[in-house]
Amino acid sequence: MSDSYSLSPLQLHRPDNYAKQALVHPQAPLIDSHIHLDQYEDDEIQQMMQSLPDHQVKSVVAVSMNMDSCQRIQQLARRYPGFVHPAYGYHPEQPLPDDQQTLKLLEWLGARIGSAVAVGEIGLPYYRRQELAQHGEALDEDGYISLLEQYLQLAARHDKPVVLHAVYEDADTVCQLLEQYRIQRAHFHWFKGSEDTIKRMARRGYHISFTPDIVYEPEIRRLAALYPRELVMAETDGPWPFEGPFAGQSTHPRMTADVCRTWAEIQGLSEREARQILYTNTCAFYRINQ
Ligand SMILES: [Zn+2]
Repeated sequence: MSDSYSLSPLQLHRPDNYAKQALVHPQAPLIDSHIHLDQYEDDEIQQMMQSLPDHQVKSVVAVSMNMDSCQRIQQLARRYPGFVHPAYGYHPEQPLPDDQQTLKLLEWLGARIGSAVAVGEIGLPYYRRQELAQHGEALDEDGYISLLEQYLQLAARHDKPVVLHAVYEDADTVCQLLEQYRIQRAHFHWFKGSEDTIKRMARRGYHISFTPDIVYEPEIRRLAALYPRELVMAETDGPWPFEGPFAGQSTHPRMTADVCRTWAEIQGLSEREARQILYTNTCAFYRINQ
């Protein structure tokens, strides 16, 4: 099969594109620390990748949902080297896989761990639990915890960071597991939780990231004022759609610029300082070359 892309990955990767951009935009580049790239249409992905340099977005961390999603992300990482940093895992807001499926995915991931920047997206199913409860059904809590433990073990064994979906009280359970498996590099994406949990996570040095909803969500803005600067990143969780000034727009990694700008205001920093901090934090956390 031949690719019909008008701009090859090599051309996209040409460093002088960035040199030119740097003259016009003397700010640190952007990096989207969490996006579900495989959930966009093919032509959307192609356009998005081509447009990244125009928006000073250097790269994205692409997380996976399940086996199909992992394979798709692997293809995209190969097609857009340097632009797409893959993370592989099983998203918790889905039915529990059977043991066979889990074994297969863990084996697949183990064989490719060297090319992954992280294990993820993994975590606990907060929203699924709520949805089941509305129908009078209970969640198999132990099943989800033991699934998560298998991915944490794999990450610990290979010294890879983990990308976590764990909000509110689930974050406390996950903190306990991280301590148990001695995992230091943990990224709680789009985190929401109590002040006690926030303090515990900050003390442990866990990272969190803000989506474009930092522009209009009071709960997230309060968190942004509290959380240590050196533990923060910007993300979109695309294609998740946003409200406020983003209503009706397709979610694009360029929106991390809005995240940086708002975080800068909240922190009393210049936009330039904010972009530099969030970019450096993300590259250091995921061990991505700057
Ligand atoms: Zn996600």
